[in-house]
Amino acid sequence: MSALLPRIVVLATGGTIAGSSANPASSAHYQAATVPVSQLVQAVPALGDVARIEAEQVAQVDSKDMMFGLWQTLAARVGFWAEQPDVAGIVITHGTDTLEETAMFLHLTQACPVPVVMTAAMRPSTSLSADGPLNMLDAVRVAACREAVGKGVLVVLNQQIHAARDVTKGHTSAVDAFVSPMAGPLGFVQDGYVRFAHAPSRVTVPRLAVPGDWPLVEVVASYAQPGRVAIDAMVAAGVKGFVVAAAGNGSVHETLAAALGDALAHGVAVVRSSRTGAGHVAIPVPPRPAGGVFVSAADLNPYKARVLLLLLLAADPALGRDSARLQDLFSQY
Ligand code: ASP
Repeated sequence: MSALLPRIVVLATGGTIAGSSANPASSAHYQAATVPVSQLVQAVPALGDVARIEAEQVAQVDSKDMMFGLWQTLAARVGFWAEQPDVAGIVITHGTDTLEETAMFLHLTQACPVPVVMTAAMRPSTSLSADGPLNMLDAVRVAACREAVGKGVLVVLNQQIHAARDVTKGHTSAVDAFVSPMAGPLGFVQDGYVRFAHAPSRVTVPRLAVPGDWPLVEVVASYAQPGRVAIDAMVAAGVKGFVVAAAGNGSVHETLAAALGDALAHGVAVVRSSRTGAGHVAIPVPPRPAGGVFVSAADLNPYKARVLLLLLLAADPALGRDSARLQDLFSQY
């Protein structure tokens, strides 16, 4: 280990990359979040040729169980390490299930003076052909790369580099599960060579605050013959915003539209995303319904749109009554 190598901090949160199984041939039956980060780092001796690694176990969870409290802790640890003068970059290990949501949260809240690179694995650490070790090594290589500075939060898996805002998990089990349907990958890592082919968009928009209090924001879907019972119950329970996983180009079933229109009239924000998995949702022409509009999430999928809506409503609860301004913000971020 050389003092001349860049210092990279690995913040571990759990996931399949830290998973283990008694049956190395199975990638379906295992327990996520069991292997400590010290062991994950030791399992990749080549890391010592790339960086001086400092590992911190921030959490040990299956990311399906992600909570806002952990996002807050993670943001604080990223902020802490990014300010240390000799830290060249930060790598975050995470479960794949909700990685895109945490990536979106960090993208929206962190200024990233040094590269912040998330990585994960589709197969547990004990699996035949585990993908975690190479993903970890590639993530460290990207975090140590000067060209990665100023590109916001990045996600590295399967030799590809993705922008946090654009990336999504698009497959249940394949090692090439992570895709950026609207933007494509920013670049790739091959045999230690880091190549950026594109610049990410929307990385210079002002960052949003990490909330102290989180509003209730839920995702609902539009499909054949939906009921309105759940929406009415959620409004009565204090929900402040809905993201609709709408059909096609943001189409909302008339039954849902009536329930959501009533919610809007009570100051609840309503944002339309698409359940198709790709494409930009048409920006509505006001007034529809009377008194406001169902804002377009642009090209954000429902879960990423929910993260943005959470942060915007936490910063300004009155946005639920100002759909024009909310639309402007969704168009910017
Ligand atoms: N359930 C796991 C998690 O998200 C799946 C994975 O990491 O691939 O933590």
